[in-house]
Amino acid sequence: EAMIKICGVRKVYRIGTEKVIALDRIDADIQKGEICCIFGTSGSGKSTLLNQLAGMEKPTEGKIVIDSVDITKLREEKMAAFRQKHIGFIFQSYNLLPYMTALENTALPLMFQGYGKKEREARAARLLKMVGLGERLSHYPSQMSGGQQQRVGIARAFAAKPDVIFADEPTGNLDTKTTAQIMEMVLAFARENQQTIVLVTHDPEMASYADRILTLIDGNIVKDERKDKK
Ligand code: ADP
Ligand code: ADP
Repeated sequence: EAMIKICGVRKVYRIGTEKVIALDRIDADIQKGEICCIFGTSGSGKSTLLNQLAGMEKPTEGKIVIDSVDITKLREEKMAAFRQKHIGFIFQSYNLLPYMTALENTALPLMFQGYGKKEREARAARLLKMVGLGERLSHYPSQMSGGQQQRVGIARAFAAKPDVIFADEPTGNLDTKTTAQIMEMVLAFARENQQTIVLVTHDPEMASYADRILTLIDGNIVKDERKDKK
């Protein structure tokens, strides 16, 4: 059974009397442990697809099954709970809370998992050490470089051991060397626990880190390539 099943997903936006077909009946299965890239130029439908996969929006037609749950049937509250339990996010702009330290940011997703404060902080500290920030637990985002902030973002994304991680242009603001470090880190974490990564990007260099590349043009998957693992 695939970790993510995308079945006939169509998304049509209506603006006044105009219709935009952002996704035109997409079908794809993404396996457990797969590092899958959704690749395409601006306007091809990548963000729309990610929004449907993360349950931020409902498709006009079709369904999405993650971990055997049809998420297109979940109402907002259930969807939020599902996200907290099963999904981690890595954002281009890091999305760290500015008034929280690296440790507090990383521990945040663990709030919803029923751990006590001591356990949350111990786990967060271990994760920050794994991303090389063991000396910066009490630093605020504004006191860290972009690459360091994104390493906090990675620690946070993996903290609750989600089955699936959605990464939207995770290194879009970082240089090539930092990008390589960040991506190696994400891949190593994901492979260790057989976690599934959906990586969204317009950058062919970034796409080359994936095991599989789904290319979108005008809301259609026009290519599905698998590579040997790096
Ligand atoms: P990408 O992420 O690949 O740049 P998007 O998914 O953002 O592409 O956009 C795909 C198409 O859907 C574009 O034509 C875009 O203008 C349109 N679109 C995306 N979101 C909306 C929205 N909320 N309302 C109307 N049109 C939208
Ligand atoms: P331990 O086995 O004592 O938990 P580890 O060094 O294996 O120590 O991990 C450190 C912390 O990072 C732990 O809280 C662990 O749960 C977490 N961790 C390790 N690998 C992953 C991963 N791939 N995804 C999520 N969390 C992870």
